[in-house]
Amino acid sequence: MFNALRKGFGLTFRTMFRPAATTQYPDVKREVQPRFHGRHVLNRYSDGLEKCVGCELCAWACPADAIYVRGADNTPDERFSPGERFGIDYQINYLRCIFCGLCIEACPTRALTMTHEYELSGDSREELIFTKEQLLAPLPAGAKPPPHTDTEVVARGFAYYEGDAAQEPTRGWRTTDQGGQAQSSGDPVTVDIGGGRTEPPSHPEHAQRNGR
Ligand code: SF4
Ligand code: SF4
Repeated sequence: MFNALRKGFGLTFRTMFRPAATTQYPDVKREVQPRFHGRHVLNRYSDGLEKCVGCELCAWACPADAIYVRGADNTPDERFSPGERFGIDYQINYLRCIFCGLCIEACPTRALTMTHEYELSGDSREELIFTKEQLLAPLPAGAKPPPHTDTEVVARGFAYYEGDAAQEPTRGWRTTDQGGQAQSSGDPVTVDIGGGRTEPPSHPEHAQRNGR
């Protein structure tokens, strides 16, 4: 019995001199791990266009049915994303989200990513259903808020998608009639890279990432 007491009080005594592990939240906020899954953000390109193309893959991947997306067609005069479509409505229900990250894995354009923000609370159900306006990343410095026209987007000469999916923003856009039939499509814009070959002009963000 004496041994048991000695061990028990010994542990208490040693612990008294260890640094406290308590964080004085909310005055002090603990650093999270680099891959921490916090609240989502809908990213933009550096020219202000939205990366979301309204494909709904994130919503289909979500095991908690926490995402609602509705897509709409871009037009030559009103372009919100470089793709054929954009997300006209986007909502995430944080009462359902389990922060698994499957939605960001599913997103083909890296439009949807997660931040380190974990302070999510509200007094009502509505406050925890985040809208597109709340989720959209701030406009980069000097960028114009969408919609942009195809003329001004083409003049910038960006290639928003690389690899097999490489395309200039208006290439392949089409308008559809009410029955969903294609009405018209844009012509590709490419640059001559010699040897009789052409490729879409590079987007500055991709060139930086690829070390070019
Ligand atoms: S993190 Fe998981 S639960 Fe939350 S919205 Fe994305 S897929 Fe759904
Ligand atoms: S966030 Fe990504 S996956 Fe979801 S609709 Fe937009 S482009 Fe598609």
